[in-house]
Amino acid sequence: MNIIKAKERGLLIVVSGPSGAGKGTVCQKLIENNSNIWLSISCTSREPRKGDIEGKTYYFLSREEFEAKIENNELLEYAQYNGNYYGTPKDKISELLDQGIDVLLEIEVQGAKKIKEMVKDALFIFILPPTMDELKRRLTSRGTEDKEKILKRFKTAYQEINELSKYNYVIVNDEVDEAVHKIESIITSEKCRVDRIEEVFVNSSEEEMHELLMDKEFDNSVHEL
Ligand code: 5GP
Repeated sequence: MNIIKAKERGLLIVVSGPSGAGKGTVCQKLIENNSNIWLSISCTSREPRKGDIEGKTYYFLSREEFEAKIENNELLEYAQYNGNYYGTPKDKISELLDQGIDVLLEIEVQGAKKIKEMVKDALFIFILPPTMDELKRRLTSRGTEDKEKILKRFKTAYQEINELSKYNYVIVNDEVDEAVHKIESIITSEKCRVDRIEEVFVNSSEEEMHELLMDKEFDNSVHEL
């Protein structure tokens, strides 16, 4: 018989970090390597960028459509970021967690704060670029946005980094595979936390100990010594 029964419910994993830190690439690789992790696809009112795919990177909505979702209470959380709405659809998340599947949300800091208030045992990971110079390089080399938008994202990055201490773990994304490996290790550690234990089946009564120990095998092995 097993000694403990740990919670089988999946983990809600929140990943944030400034635009250009590489969270998208890291999260994508994480789900490719781990079939038990499901990446939530957010809704947004921002315009699709080069490389965006409807239903894969985001569900692209008009502001009106997004506001209707807020009105109908269809979002777990939402926030405005650089003038656009971003939000996590509610459907499926709690069902998947109940099935033991880990759910990954790649969201900005205001949304993460709301999740922290709602879900006490969620895991919060912050991804940083190695340097601000590297962040600038990554933002400009994407070639998907104009100067003004890049400047806005760069300024927002500084505000976001100020929120770092509200997270449980920080990963410096110098090398994608290494960052992914670190997140996998964090998830493994989280699953071993003693507060995930639901039941302990060890009965420390004299009778039980005696019954377990005093069998033929024990007698034989003791004789052998
Ligand atoms: P981007 O425009 O670069 O795709 O995303 C801008 C920011 O919005 C990123 O920090 C991204 O993590 C965040 N984001 C994406 N989806 C959501 C969401 O559903 N909720 C919140 N709060 N932020 C999101």
